[in-house]
Amino acid sequence: MNLIRLISLGYFDRQLLENVAEDVSACFTLKTETIVHFHDLEPYYDSNRRQYDANRLLAYIEAEFRQEHQKTIGLVSVDLFIPILTYIFGQAYLNGYAAIASFYRLQNELYGLKQNNLLLKDRLVKEINHELGHCFGLIHCYDPLCVMRSSTYVEDIDQKSKYFCTKCQSHL
Ligand SMILES: [Zn+2]
Ligand SMILES: [Zn+2]
Repeated sequence: MNLIRLISLGYFDRQLLENVAEDVSACFTLKTETIVHFHDLEPYYDSNRRQYDANRLLAYIEAEFRQEHQKTIGLVSVDLFIPILTYIFGQAYLNGYAAIASFYRLQNELYGLKQNNLLLKDRLVKEINHELGHCFGLIHCYDPLCVMRSSTYVEDIDQKSKYFCTKCQSHL
């Protein structure tokens, strides 16, 4: 494995994309490449749920960007769902090539708190590392600080670190 690609789809702050790419690269000790991909997200919008279909978006990313020796994560600013859950922060194909993550639910403003760009970046890096971890074949981990610990709420993300525990790290 030699490259991680971070691809923004739809509206996405360019600086945020570059900043998270740098952190992700350091955590995996792998090169990252950033791509701004102009792709209309409207076809993935579910007007009943007023959210975007993560399964279909993930399938698109894999179909479009699948490549040997690369892991690709699509990054969006819109709210994602899968049929069985109210919302998701992200999703990935276990042992696959593609993942997806959204920063929508990672924003303090959504919870009536003051905007915090540094915190937003940290949360997004954790979410990206987590989903990419699944692409590398890792399942959920019970170590409270390990990034592979599952997170239901944004508070769960804040309690873990952006790093992999020794056990998970050894499988990367
Ligand atoms: Zn997970
Ligand atoms: Zn772990």
